[in-house]
Amino acid sequence: MAARILDGRALAARLHETMRAEVVSLVRSGVTPGIGLVRVGEDPASVVYVRTKAKASADLGIHSEVHVVDPRAGQGAVESLLDQLNANPDVHGILLQLPLPEGYSADRLLARMDPGKDVDGLHPVNVGRLCLGLPGFVPCTPLGVLVLLEESGYRPRGNLVAVVGRSALVGRPLANLLSLRGEHGDATVLLCHTQTRRLGELLRQADIVVAAAGRAGTVTGAMLKPGVVVVDVGMNRVADPSSPGGTRLVGDVDFASASEVAEAITPVPGGVGPMTVAMLMRNTITAAKSAARG
Ligand code: NAP
Repeated sequence: MAARILDGRALAARLHETMRAEVVSLVRSGVTPGIGLVRVGEDPASVVYVRTKAKASADLGIHSEVHVVDPRAGQGAVESLLDQLNANPDVHGILLQLPLPEGYSADRLLARMDPGKDVDGLHPVNVGRLCLGLPGFVPCTPLGVLVLLEESGYRPRGNLVAVVGRSALVGRPLANLLSLRGEHGDATVLLCHTQTRRLGELLRQADIVVAAAGRAGTVTGAMLKPGVVVVDVGMNRVADPSSPGGTRLVGDVDFASASEVAEAITPVPGGVGPMTVAMLMRNTITAAKSAARG
């Protein structure tokens, strides 16, 4: 039986409608939400991601400034730029696009941001608050996964959720959020990585599987329990001579075999990606509201 498709693009578009109205009301009260998007170098994927985020901001009436730093400028140049953005009252949120070129310390740069403007939730203060279950900015991709599941009628509560991938950006914060006490968490979490033995055996027990491994074909239908809900975070470019550019974008899940077994599954593209952008917009509006309150 073909699985239900969890359409992140359509959900993100609906969320954008609500957020557009929120921005209008903020602007009327004298605050235009603003985001500083920082890209170091010309990594092709980063160029596309920053462009997409700037476009979404424009679409919602959020002011965005894109800052592109020459990779030869060095860590100090990015630190100075972050200091300026921290001090700029028109910028409520800052996003440092990752990964950074070799020689840059993402950890040091993320820690340099004002945690109140860290709309991707990667500053150590926000990471700590998330682990403790305290309010703070939550990383956009894990938040997008949770919102997509909940809005599609799949509550993690009480379920066994397997997360494949333990990065600080996706897997670990997602596992933390899912395991927190409360209505958005209360799941039992299996956090899997490259040292996990018998991955398929473990995944076959899960009610929900989230793949964030960054490798095409990591999860196949044979590794899944019938009726499982599958969220594919992965974005991998693979060779495809039949595509115009000779490549195409796929997730970490083998969609054909998984959709035969799953009750519901996200597509790639059009699943988690648009939700990530929507959550960045949501976090920026939250930051602007908090600035408006002083
Ligand atoms: P990452 O930093 O490379 O982390 C990958 C994680 O997956 C690591 O923890 C790694 O384990 C684990 N892993 C890799 N291969 C595995 C395997 N065969 N079995 C089990 N675990 C495996 O990647 P990331 O930044 O989290 O991103 C993951 C994917 O999501 C990428 O494709 C990325 O492009 C995509 N992504 C999408 C969005 C979106 O908006 N849709 C946002 C962010 C990222 P070890 O720790 O043992 O190495």
